[in-house]
Amino acid sequence: MADKRDYYEVLGVDKNASADEIKKAYRKLAKKYHPDLNPDDKEGAEAKFKEASEAYEVLSDADKKARYDQFGHAGVDPNAAAGYGGGGFGGFGGFEDFDLGDIFGSFFGGGASRRNQNGPQRGRDVRMNIDLTFEEACFGTKKDVTVSHMEECHTCHGSGAAPGSKPTRCTNCGGSGQVRSVQRTPFGNMQSVRTCEVCRGKGTIINDPCKSCRGEGSLRNSKKISVNIPGGIDTGQTLNVRGEGDIGKNGGPAGDLLITVRVKPHKLFVRQGSDIMCDYPITFVQATLGGEVKVPTVDGSVTYNIPEGTQPGTVFRLKGKGAVKLNGTTRGDQYVKIQVEIPKGITEKQKDLLRQFDDSVDPSKYKRRKSFGEKIKDFFE
Ligand SMILES: [Zn+2]
Ligand SMILES: [Zn+2]
Repeated sequence: MADKRDYYEVLGVDKNASADEIKKAYRKLAKKYHPDLNPDDKEGAEAKFKEASEAYEVLSDADKKARYDQFGHAGVDPNAAAGYGGGGFGGFGGFEDFDLGDIFGSFFGGGASRRNQNGPQRGRDVRMNIDLTFEEACFGTKKDVTVSHMEECHTCHGSGAAPGSKPTRCTNCGGSGQVRSVQRTPFGNMQSVRTCEVCRGKGTIINDPCKSCRGEGSLRNSKKISVNIPGGIDTGQTLNVRGEGDIGKNGGPAGDLLITVRVKPHKLFVRQGSDIMCDYPITFVQATLGGEVKVPTVDGSVTYNIPEGTQPGTVFRLKGKGAVKLNGTTRGDQYVKIQVEIPKGITEKQKDLLRQFDDSVDPSKYKRRKSFGEKIKDFFE
């Protein structure tokens, strides 16, 4: 015990080093001295590796680090302090669970030990857009779309093996897809787990790969799907078609097909939720006299009686002429805004008629002008 090196010295870090710096220093040493990576000097490397692992095990644990900082090796060494389990291996409970895969994942081909590649995995969602006419969006429709997604290979039914053959169990990992190696240290056995490089984590080997999918078990395919588009849907909303995304792995569910709606603009109408807005231009004579007009709606034109003396900007409502309410059966309304158009370029004769008309009208017939005139008068007095 006397010649035991200082843990900070072993890792080559300062006493004030952060947890991150300690971890980095250890990763570097572990990589450098891992016995598997030093076939020429296995024993020398192993000793260094153990030393670094021991230092890291203490300095990466806030509790043990505090004891070590205060008491030195006696504070944490199971051999120095009988209280910690009589000097045997495994004195620090839990050390055996120390997951080296976490540390070595980065240079043993990708941290696979943390995620079970053989477990069911949901397939990816597939996204697409769909363009609808204004009317289709108002009332709903059925649309055929072609989705390009990953499907189970029809030739091998997903096994990846050519017809008549079967995938065989990987002998390198015994079918688990993972290879464990055990590292003995003064504190017990440390396990490192890595993805089997022979079967790439699958646990099986395909000796005679399916020609259609090249052994993948799945392939990209285009499929026509009939999709029910509910009435009342609008631009930017997304429909979810369950299970029509990419196929899942290892028995996991397929992803979904997500269809985002874009509604083409209409020449006359604008949607606002389940209501439909439109402008309706009339002549100033129509506005003055009133009369029947034909108003376009998504159901066809309807007759509306404009009352005599209708002002510009008046909005009238056509009940139930809007879009279907999304996830409902009733419909919104149509709002029609009256625009009064003033003619340009009329003849001298027409102008004369208008002047005659204007002279004949009692000023009290212009209610707003009258009240505005009175307000002006008050203002200047
Ligand atoms: Zn196949
Ligand atoms: Zn294997």
